Amino acid sequence: MAKKIPTRLYLDEEEIPKYWYNLRADMQDKPDPILHPGTLQPATATDLEVVFCKECIKQELDDTTRLIEIPEGLQEFYRAYRPAPLIRAKFLEKALDTPAEIYYKHEGTNTSGSHKLNSAAAQAFYAKAEGLSSLTTETGAGQWGTAMAMACAFYGLGLTVYMVKVSSEQKPYRKALIETYGANLIPSPSNTTEAGRKILALNPNTGGSLGCAISEAVETAVKTDKCRYVLGSVLNHVVLHQSIIGQEAKAALDKYDIKPDIIIGCAGGGSNLGGLIAPFMGDKLAGKSKTQFIAVEPASCPSFTRGRYAYDFGDTAKTTPLLRMYTLGNGFIPSANHAGGLRYHGMNPILSKLYHDGFLEARSAIQTDVFDAAVRFAKIEGILPAPESSHAIKVAIDEALACKRTGEKKRILFGLTGTGYFDMTAYMAYNAKTMSDVIPSDADLEQGFSSLPDIPQNKQ
Ligand SMILES: *Cc1c(COP(=O)(O)O)cnc(C)c1O
Repeated sequence: MAKKIPTRLYLDEEEIPKYWYNLRADMQDKPDPILHPGTLQPATATDLEVVFCKECIKQELDDTTRLIEIPEGLQEFYRAYRPAPLIRAKFLEKALDTPAEIYYKHEGTNTSGSHKLNSAAAQAFYAKAEGLSSLTTETGAGQWGTAMAMACAFYGLGLTVYMVKVSSEQKPYRKALIETYGANLIPSPSNTTEAGRKILALNPNTGGSLGCAISEAVETAVKTDKCRYVLGSVLNHVVLHQSIIGQEAKAALDKYDIKPDIIIGCAGGGSNLGGLIAPFMGDKLAGKSKTQFIAVEPASCPSFTRGRYAYDFGDTAKTTPLLRMYTLGNGFIPSANHAGGLRYHGMNPILSKLYHDGFLEARSAIQTDVFDAAVRFAKIEGILPAPESSHAIKVAIDEALACKRTGEKKRILFGLTGTGYFDMTAYMAYNAKTMSDVIPSDADLEQGFSSLPDIPQNKQ
């Protein structure tokens, strides 16, 4: 007899996965290699060592090891806030009057408020183990900066955070939280780096962008002794760390023999989505399932749905290695959407490849529709979602309503990446009905594409 499905699908502490799952090992067609921007040859570990921690580079370049052990000193930290709850959205199902089953993995229960802590802790752990004394990073909406600040406080490392200027103004409490955990926070662009000074000279009133903050953080890491740079999304090792989300979700669902038909995640740089879907996508690639995967991005920053599959820089100063990804161009500056964590021009190379090869779908959503879904979810399920996460909620509701029309009893799983406590400016705009929907024109996108590197690899 099938077990009764509870509202919370618990895992015991000893059931927390001890391995990350590296999906690339099971991809027959691998993502294209990272290129050195000067030689245009595949980047080597040595090329990357001035910027990143050694272990992260090893993971970044590894596309053959399926399971990578989570070190004990990190598992210990994970146990303080994991497993993250996997919840059946029974109230939402009822309110939508849908035959579908809806589940969500709630990554917002730790103090930083999002899934980003999973990779922040891993990167801080490795930095400490390698004998570094400090790290630099950027933060857009502030979630990554908070997660890194927490992780650095725990492992005893210094941290400088370049925070996109508009976000530091929109989210003063995020800034305060990052500073409370002991990090040095600098609104970007700033005059503390060459990259920042250059951008300010061109555009003194700019509110900044993630790409620009990355340039500043990388420059500072390279110029500081025993210091490296850490990134909270986009790169393959970040997706690897986030596979703890999918590993846990799968372990909990397997206990009840639940095979999701649809998995939905919001996509900024792709780390939560890549992590959530990893083991399920592995099954699909092996022909063991027909699960449908849907990435949801803001219509204001449509990397998948309107971007190009090309080699591009990760930052506006064009200093990072080149990644082949869906991108709007490193020069694309998205409008001031409230889902700050989704305002990035590019998308993780693994997800980009899967999308290109038809294993992953993508949809875009406009801001007011996303907030309609967010508020509906808050009222029905009780949890105030982050604006980013609400993109996934919007499409989960769409899919559940589609099931209502067709009578299909699909099982829908989505990633609830974080809580919205620090996004009250956005909710206030929504409540006051002053929220707008900015969708870039084709001409706006063309301008972004013109910043793509002019290299032979982009002409094929
Ligand atoms: C950063 C962030 C995202 C987007 O980042 P991904 O790397 O695409 O996962 C989504 N949700 C929240 C709450 C975030 O903080």
